[in-house]
Amino acid sequence: MSKVAFCWKCGAPVTEEDAFCRNCGAPVTAQQSQVAYAQPPYQQGQQGQQGQGQYLKQPMPKDKVAAGLLAILLGSLGIHKFYLGYNTAGLIMLLCTVFTLGLAACVFGIIGLVEGIIYLTKSDEEFLNTYVYNSKPWF
Ligand SMILES: [Zn+2]
Repeated sequence: MSKVAFCWKCGAPVTEEDAFCRNCGAPVTAQQSQVAYAQPPYQQGQQGQQGQGQYLKQPMPKDKVAAGLLAILLGSLGIHKFYLGYNTAGLIMLLCTVFTLGLAACVFGIIGLVEGIIYLTKSDEEFLNTYVYNSKPWF
């Protein structure tokens, strides 16, 4: 039986039967592949550099990119409000858009666009503190 691991150098999948990585030629030893197996390189690249706060170690409760894109694309329907848990604010936007037969959608579309840009320009930590752990339904 061969266990699949990752090359410690380039991150390509290797098996313990491989003496050398098929991708980059780095020697594969059992010990190195064990270490690499525990921490695949593609995760180190994303999270290792910033190293700030415990938020990054936990799964993100809300994704600011998703919220930002929802705000920009579907801002007039308040979808990003629902996504962030601001159901009242989202309902206001949705109902106003529906009851004005879309007239309010122009205004809310601009609000959503601005809010989406604000979400995306904040750091992950700032975004979570502002919109997830505290309650800030508008902007
Ligand atoms: Zn390799």
